[in-house]
Amino acid sequence: MDESGGSGRWHESVIDLIGDTPMVRLRRVAEGLAPAVVAKLEYFNPGGSSKDRIALRMILAAEEAGLLRPGGTVVEPTSGNTGVGLALVAQQRGYRCLFTCPDKVSTDKIAVLRAYGAEVRVCPASVPVDHPDSYRSTAARLAAEIPGAFSPNQYANAANPESHYRTTGPEIWSRSRGGVTHFVAGVGTGGTISGTGRYLKEVSGGRVRVIGADPDGSVYSGGTGRPYVVEGVGQPSLPGSYDPAVPDRIIKVSDADSIAMTRRLAREEGILTGGSGGMAVAAALEAARDAGPDDVVVVLVPDSGRGYLSKIFDDAWTERFGFADQSGEGARVSDLLDRQNPRRELVFVGPHESVTAAVKLMRERNLTHLLVASAPPPVRLPEIQGVLTPAALARSLARGAVGPDDQVADHMEPPPPPAGTGRLAADVLATLADAGATAAVAVAGGLPEGLVTEADVLALLG
Ligand code: PMP
Repeated sequence: MDESGGSGRWHESVIDLIGDTPMVRLRRVAEGLAPAVVAKLEYFNPGGSSKDRIALRMILAAEEAGLLRPGGTVVEPTSGNTGVGLALVAQQRGYRCLFTCPDKVSTDKIAVLRAYGAEVRVCPASVPVDHPDSYRSTAARLAAEIPGAFSPNQYANAANPESHYRTTGPEIWSRSRGGVTHFVAGVGTGGTISGTGRYLKEVSGGRVRVIGADPDGSVYSGGTGRPYVVEGVGQPSLPGSYDPAVPDRIIKVSDADSIAMTRRLAREEGILTGGSGGMAVAAALEAARDAGPDDVVVVLVPDSGRGYLSKIFDDAWTERFGFADQSGEGARVSDLLDRQNPRRELVFVGPHESVTAAVKLMRERNLTHLLVASAPPPVRLPEIQGVLTPAALARSLARGAVGPDDQVADHMEPPPPPAGTGRLAADVLATLADAGATAAVAVAGGLPEGLVTEADVLALLG
């Protein structure tokens, strides 16, 4: 895996291109801050992310331990950057690669893995993770059934943080000529922060401050695993690949701040990264506020934004989820909310509550829409599973289709469509018509803010 013949003119394999990624100072987004804020751009890795590093180390470590032999198969439940890294390294070292993923994963992501020659089994996303058909159970079964199979499991593999201890940490130390004072990275498996952070602390005699960035809702920043939009970071529970002794501080970043910074990085710094890169930079800027002019804040940008063009970089998407205002003149969804008097409250029931109790609640509170949520308030958008309306319930009752023991989930309609608070009110009518709905959930920064009905819109426009 050395450069060809020592000539330095080319490499023998793309594997040799893993690591030694460049660092670039952030000028515009860090304007006015005392320290230098420097981004380490991991999309310069051949597979496009920091996960190439861990893929290489996990496969080499498995070879060394005799877990992976010629003709072996790498099996992993993954569809993202780790899959790309593993596909790349496995094919170069002569292994078959077999991935499983839930069927909600975009076809583009699956196509990337297949393009590298990996096999992908698509499993139902609708079953719980411990169900035998889930993508995780399927991977475990395949790993047990296929002779010579090896499952890297990045969440429990010491080679994950180890790869960053051996490469990312030393690269930052040498490129900054020992000047780095703060290291900031998003925390997913925790491999990056634990390995890089441990190296930088050791080499600096404990001087480097290590700061993790975490999406609001995830466990690292005190959440309970409620959903958020930014991909690849955060966890519902602490994995073995994370060493809680390493970070000095965890900064919680909202989806709204992560997405705004991701878009600014593309427009102002020429850095096209995903939401977790924006999240890490947002945290780095916050950490930089407490730092001095001689400090150097290094922030890791883990992947490219190319995989997120249809979401974070798509105006229709950001407007729908309340991350940006729609252009144009006129009353907005936020105006509809402001005119509600009293403000329409978001009222929720669980999917397993009885229909009888739900009907009583709707009567008592005079609700036009009772939302069905899988978790207690404050409810996040993906947790809204459906809605009960008096009209639909009355139809079911009239048909005699409601039994005394029926659950809410048996009679709910699909969840109301989201409408960002910065959207034009007039356009909400089209959204409602498309969804066949009578209300939309008003969303600000990805979070449910209220409920706007067809009647609200008509009252404002009329
Ligand atoms: N950003 C993205 C896009 C990722 O895929 C990951 C890894 N899951 C991370 C950040 C976080 O890195 P780590 O797993 O090392 O904590």
